[in-house]
Amino acid sequence: MTTTEPFTEALAAFHDLWRTAPFGEGRCPLCGARGPFFPVPGFADRGPLCARCHDDVAARLGLRARPRTPEGVLRRWPRIVAHLICASLGYFTPRAAAAALLAYRDDEPFYCEWFDSLFGMDRQELIAGGAQVLRAAVADRHRHRGYMADYATARRLVAAEREGRGPTLASWF
Ligand SMILES: [Zn+2]
Repeated sequence: MTTTEPFTEALAAFHDLWRTAPFGEGRCPLCGARGPFFPVPGFADRGPLCARCHDDVAARLGLRARPRTPEGVLRRWPRIVAHLICASLGYFTPRAAAAALLAYRDDEPFYCEWFDSLFGMDRQELIAGGAQVLRAAVADRHRHRGYMADYATARRLVAAEREGRGPTLASWF
């Protein structure tokens, strides 16, 4: 699987549209859908696409599809999941953190007591707030150590979850 192979004929028209589409309108350059947007690996210069177009292009290019389940998220982004557990101070189990990440990637709200206490139950507030929490978890990743936010411990829990023996109530207890 390589992104440097020439585009197939089937992709050529699609590619032209993608290459010449205007960016910066907060919409997918191919179909006009709103975000979230996903960069296509190897094609950063062409701008990110909406989830549906991303999957379409990725499939045509023979790239890996985006994870669609918490299990897939745990396999693909174990480090981000672990940092999210740290950011939640252990409130999130690995599975809950993966589900929250999946919701963020799909522009869906993630309902849980923690987000509810922070952002209330309004759908848009939850989506925006959840995105904030996730971005902060990644931005603060170098501070995830010590009591209640230990990254190494979180990584071990993510590995345990991937083997089907992860925590079920909260991560640290
Ligand atoms: Zn699109």
